[in-house]
Amino acid sequence: MSDTYDLVVIGGGSGGVRAARMSAQLGAKVAIVEEYRYGGTCVIRGCVPKKLFVYASRFPDLFDVAPSFGWQVDASFDWQTLLANKDKEIARLEKIYETLLDGSGVTLFHDRATITGPNSVSLKSGGTLEARHILVATGGSPFKPAIEGAELGITSNEAFHLETLPKTILVEGGGYIAVEFATIFSGLGVDTTLVYRGDRILRGFDHDIREGLESALHERGVRLRYGYHISKLEKDGEGVCVSFSHGEEATFGAVMFATGRHPNTDDLGLEAAGVDRDQTGAIVVDAYSRSSCPSIYAVGDVTGRAALTPVAIREGAAFAQTVFNNTPTTVPYDLIPTAVFSEPEIGTVGLSEERAAERYRSIDVYLTRFRPMINTLSGRQDKMMLKLITETATGRVLGCHIMGPGAGEMIQLVAIPMGMNATKADFDHAIAVHPTAAEELVTLKAPSYRVVDGEKVAA
Ligand code: NDP
Repeated sequence: MSDTYDLVVIGGGSGGVRAARMSAQLGAKVAIVEEYRYGGTCVIRGCVPKKLFVYASRFPDLFDVAPSFGWQVDASFDWQTLLANKDKEIARLEKIYETLLDGSGVTLFHDRATITGPNSVSLKSGGTLEARHILVATGGSPFKPAIEGAELGITSNEAFHLETLPKTILVEGGGYIAVEFATIFSGLGVDTTLVYRGDRILRGFDHDIREGLESALHERGVRLRYGYHISKLEKDGEGVCVSFSHGEEATFGAVMFATGRHPNTDDLGLEAAGVDRDQTGAIVVDAYSRSSCPSIYAVGDVTGRAALTPVAIREGAAFAQTVFNNTPTTVPYDLIPTAVFSEPEIGTVGLSEERAAERYRSIDVYLTRFRPMINTLSGRQDKMMLKLITETATGRVLGCHIMGPGAGEMIQLVAIPMGMNATKADFDHAIAVHPTAAEELVTLKAPSYRVVDGEKVAA
C-alpha cells in the first residue's frame, strides 16, 4: 500500500517541523516521520532540558550573595525532583509540537523511514510513502572517540537521565557542550574536571572570551587539563578508571564525552537516490538546501552547516518558501548570534578580534570589565566583560562579545543593529538604560586599543 504526498519530511526536530508546518500552510500535502520523539534534539535532549539544568545549577550563586541582601538560606538539592519536573516539561512541549503539526494538516508517523528512491520512502512498520519532494531533517548525534571502553562513558543524551548525580565527573571536550555541562555539574555540586586536547577551551571564539571563561571556571573549582586525551576507560567499582594518553590514570564517578556531534545519515537509503555526502557524512546541499538528487532536500544539523536550532528553523522555513511558495529563499549565515550557557554566560555575534584583524587593516577594540551590581554587596569578585570591535575607517561594528549575566539575552538585541551595518556612532546615539550592564554597550567612550596590520597599538 502506498500514499502520495507533495512532501515527506524525515525527522521531527526543529528544522523538519518548521518545514512541514509551513509547507502544509502553503497548501502542500505533507507527511512527517519521526522514529523517536517529536521536538528533536533541541526540545528532547538538547537546548531546552539543558537550559532547565542551567537554571538549577545557578541557584548556589544566588544563595551565595543572598546573605548580603539580608536573606538567610538553608538550601538542599534533589536531583530526582529536577529530573521529574524536566521530563514533565519536555513531555508537554513534545505534545505541543505534535498538536501544531496536526493542526497544520500534517500527517504524523511514529516510525523509522528509509529512502528507497528519489520519490519514495519506506516505513519500518510497513508501507511506502510516495513524495514529490523529500526533506531530510534527521539531525545529528553525539560522537564518542573510538577508544577501548568508550561504552562506559556517557554523552549529553544520557546526562539528561542519570539515575543519580555522580560525586565526581570528567568531561572531555572544549566546545559548547563541554563547557556548558562542566558548569552545570559543578554548579550542582559535582567535583568536575574538564580535559581538552587543545590548548584553550572554545576554539574559534574571541580570545578574551576564552581566557575569561577559563579563569571563571577555574575560580569555580572546575579543574581544566589541556593537551589531555582519554585513551581507555575501565570499570572501577562504581566508577570509571580513565587512562590518559600520556600515561596518567584516575577514577571518576562518571565520564562524559562532549567531543562533537555527527550527522545522522547512516542507513537512511541516501545512496538509493544518489544523494551525495561529504567526508563527515553530512548531506551536501546548495544554497536552497537541495541535495545532489533534485527531489531531495536537507536542512539542519544533518547538512553540517551551522549546528544551531534557530538556523535549522530558518533553513526549514526557507525550504518551504522556495519549494511551495515559488519564492527562492536563502539563509544569511554571515551573522549568527550565539550564546554559550556556561557560567558565566557568553553571548557573541560577528567577528572575533583575531578574525577582524585578519580581514581589516585597522580595527578598534572597546573592552570593559566590571563587577555585576548583584555582586557588589557581597564583595563577590566575578567580573562581567563587554567587548566591541569596530572597523577604524568606518566605525562599523564588526563583533560584539559579552560574558556575564544576561549575555545571551543582550547579544540577541545587538545582532539587530549589526545586521543593519550599524556603526559605533549609531550605538552611542542610543540613550543608556540605567542601571544595567547592557548600558556599557552604548557608553564605551574611547577604544581600549587599536590593531593595525596585526599589531596592537594605542588608539
Ligand atoms: P563542538 O564541535 O563545539 O566541540 C567538540 C569538542 O570536542 C571540541 O573541543 C573538539 O576539539 C573536541 N573533539 C572533537 N573530536 C575529538 C576527539 N576525537 N577526541 C577528543 N576531543 C575531540 O561540539 P559540541 O559537541 O560541544 O556541540 C556540537 C554543536 O552543537 C556545537 O558546535 C553547536 O553548534 C551546537 N550547540 C550549541 C549550543 C548553544 O547554542 N548554546 C549548545 C550545545 C551545542 P577541537 O577544538 O580540537 O576540534
